[in-house]
Amino acid sequence: MQIYAPKLYQDDGLKYEARIEQNGISTSLWFNLQAEHNEKLSSSCDAALIALLIPAMLKGQDIVIHGPLSERLLFNVKGPLQNILCSLMPKLKKISITAKKTTSTPTGSLGVATGFSAGIDSYSTLSDYYQNNAPKQLKISHLLFSNVGSHGKDKATQLFNSRFNKLKSAASELKLPLFKVNSNVENFYAGKLDFQLTHTLRNASVALLLQPILKFYLYSSAYSYEALKVEKTYDIAFADAFILPLIATESLTMLSVGSEYTRVEKTLKVSRLTQSYKYLDVCVLSKEKADNCSKCSKCMRTLLTLELSGNLQLYAGVFKLSTYFDNKNKFITNMIFSKNPLHKEIMQYSKYKKTRFPKHLYIKATLLLLINTPKRIKTKTKKLIKKTLLKNQFIKRMLFERAK
Ligand SMILES: [Zn+2]
Repeated sequence: MQIYAPKLYQDDGLKYEARIEQNGISTSLWFNLQAEHNEKLSSSCDAALIALLIPAMLKGQDIVIHGPLSERLLFNVKGPLQNILCSLMPKLKKISITAKKTTSTPTGSLGVATGFSAGIDSYSTLSDYYQNNAPKQLKISHLLFSNVGSHGKDKATQLFNSRFNKLKSAASELKLPLFKVNSNVENFYAGKLDFQLTHTLRNASVALLLQPILKFYLYSSAYSYEALKVEKTYDIAFADAFILPLIATESLTMLSVGSEYTRVEKTLKVSRLTQSYKYLDVCVLSKEKADNCSKCSKCMRTLLTLELSGNLQLYAGVFKLSTYFDNKNKFITNMIFSKNPLHKEIMQYSKYKKTRFPKHLYIKATLLLLINTPKRIKTKTKKLIKKTLLKNQFIKRMLFERAK
């Protein structure tokens, strides 16, 4: 894969477009920034490299960079970053990366940005790094909202715009600029690597675009420190704290923030922010409009935590509570024996709050567990019997003779 120096020009905002060549076919990777003032974008290939690293590793294609690239970024991407990515996604291959021209001069920028989706993680980050006592150097100065694949496929642009319009009012109430960044990054992943498995690098590429403005990029963590790990996974967020420092450049430092809390603790913290009663958006099922469906797993775990803490009614304006109550028992039944760390946290919290779920849900959960278990046990037992029998020479000979 060849990545060429990006062109920067005005096109419904500020555009960054880098020519990409793969197997003799020329395409382009673009980002489009809509901001309130005359912001500048980085003219380096840093953003393009991070956006395309995983797709290139999936195909085992070496990368040659023809434009300027951060020396520090190149060093980390060549070595440790690829090691971590291969552990998380064993189907990736390590590739060679060469750059014709490296740079090491910091931009001297001072901005601090975080992604803003109005979800639990981003409100928790705002609480710590904007509303409360964050040190001046780390106080959030910019919010980012990007389209790098998180808004689905068919009606992604509609949902992206709908979500942005809602977030714009929230950002203006917070008195923070909200940058809207559209892109065609998703095209390079082409459905082969889903968003949950790759979001950290996709989002980090947007922060790299903004190096003339930013000194820090704070990426809201999804999991607590106890849950972090570098092994085959379905969610790259388990390794954010290891990955982000390796994507830093001479100008921009990336930090994973919020892992000191459980999801329950974050939800409780967010419930003290009055703005969240009007704007909280946690849903994964919304297709065209930015609304909480009140029944997907993200909606359900948030609402159950809010109910357990006595804060549910505060969110009657952004959730359909009747839908939540209709689906609550089913969710609890599936959660009781779940291995999902976020579900385990809610179970622990319900014990702490001395809230017992109805007995019939435990009975149903146990029955479901029993129905799902025999298959596993059966296969294991079968293998064990076979292994034991074959260890016995007499039986082995008998079986062999019979087969003859
Ligand atoms: Zn939902």
